[in-house]
Amino acid sequence: MSRVSRRELMGAAFGAAVLAGAPRGRAADGPSAKISTRYIAAYDTESPACLQACHKIVEVHKRLETPATFFITGRTLEANAAAYKALLADPLFEVASHTWSHKLLRDNALCGRAVSAQEKREEVFKAKELIESVFERPCVGLRPAVGFDNALKGATDVLELARSAGFRYVSSLLWGPDCSMPALIREPFHYGEDGCADLWELPGHGWHENLLKDHNRWGARRLTLWPSPIPEAIPTQFVKTPEDEFRINRVFLEKACETGKPHVSLIWHPWSLYSFDPDMKMLELTFAHARRIGLVPSAYADLWKQMAG
Ligand SMILES: [Zn+2]
Repeated sequence: MSRVSRRELMGAAFGAAVLAGAPRGRAADGPSAKISTRYIAAYDTESPACLQACHKIVEVHKRLETPATFFITGRTLEANAAAYKALLADPLFEVASHTWSHKLLRDNALCGRAVSAQEKREEVFKAKELIESVFERPCVGLRPAVGFDNALKGATDVLELARSAGFRYVSSLLWGPDCSMPALIREPFHYGEDGCADLWELPGHGWHENLLKDHNRWGARRLTLWPSPIPEAIPTQFVKTPEDEFRINRVFLEKACETGKPHVSLIWHPWSLYSFDPDMKMLELTFAHARRIGLVPSAYADLWKQMAG
């Protein structure tokens, strides 16, 4: 496949605001301009197969100068710390936590039960400590394993753990209502109602892309809502090509842009992306479209800073 350069990508874009050095998240035409929607590429990095995939993913991001957030499990980082440091130390990338060993911090109707209080503590604290010691910079975000349809609302034990560990945001709202797919384009909120007003929820959106490809071998399942709030994002079969996947992605990007949401971020897994599309053609299609429609490439930490003021 032909490799797209950043210049070609930007030529298709109105991302000129970014090139011109305008403040991130704001269009370039003055203080009254509306806040632009951020596009956040994010990767749940959680298995040995993710390392090879991240080599390719990082190459695409650097070539296109597109930031990203890598939520990584402590065990995945521990197994290849030097290699991940070499890949992800670039300031283009945020490295955040995906827990220590991918154990559940609260019940998920499709994925299982929460672990014990002691295990939750280890999942929340230990990966953050390792990430900060490897990368020598703060780790401000936590994406709990599998995510939930009610975020961490009411899970005051987990919220207190996250806050006391020093996290500034969690990204746990990763399912639609009633544990359905896709996750709707929900906006950030803080956990003030649970006594943690300084802890933000920054949701993920769309499909867990591994489910779109049957990479979990779940087969046909009760996953979608009826009637669907977003039927155009529900394909009639598992996706077969990078172009199929991009056609789903663009629904979320365009809807977030049209409705003026603060951000849109799809739920991606390096191991699954690489086994489906080793050239990462879908990434290039998606990043080019994001810039074409005026989304601002960002990391989750940029969104947190914006929301926290
Ligand atoms: Zn995960």
